[in-house]
Amino acid sequence: MSSAAPGDLELLRQFVNTVDPDEHTDALDTPEHLGAWLSDRGLLATGTHVASEDHTRALRFRKSVRDLALGNSDSAPDPQAILSFNELAEPTRLVLQLGGDGSAALVAEGSDLDRVLGRLLASIYIAMIDGNWQRLKACSNDTCRWLYFDHSKNRSKKWCTMESCGNVINARAYRERRREV
Ligand SMILES: [Zn+2]
Repeated sequence: MSSAAPGDLELLRQFVNTVDPDEHTDALDTPEHLGAWLSDRGLLATGTHVASEDHTRALRFRKSVRDLALGNSDSAPDPQAILSFNELAEPTRLVLQLGGDGSAALVAEGSDLDRVLGRLLASIYIAMIDGNWQRLKACSNDTCRWLYFDHSKNRSKKWCTMESCGNVINARAYRERRREV
């Protein structure tokens, strides 16, 4: 089954998955690459300069979302990730605005990057209300940590769709069980 998430949550999932901890690759390794990635998705005007502090902020945000998503597959959210998330959310100054048709949206004031982060933050908030957030999980395999959307009925998945991850965990669980005997 696909590991894609609905709506803007998929954008967030793709954003977090730009780094592959296992392969040590990062598609957003420079401010220029971050700018290009965002403009490819219509989130930033082409050629917008990304300052290095904004680049750092975006990567910290990416990490805090991954750490929080890990809480969705484990048990509880990491307190450090919550602190970091709140610190990053604060300067985006998200406000509730009504569009011409009377529908509400959370819109960030501030810089170009604030608006990008604001959109991703709003997608998290909306997903927390509609119940989709708890389905966005980081793979329990500590060398993978890939973000996937758990489509299973009882939200019981622990690792991503990569066969190797399930096998690593199964092999480890097997070894631990055997040790206990
Ligand atoms: Zn995995």
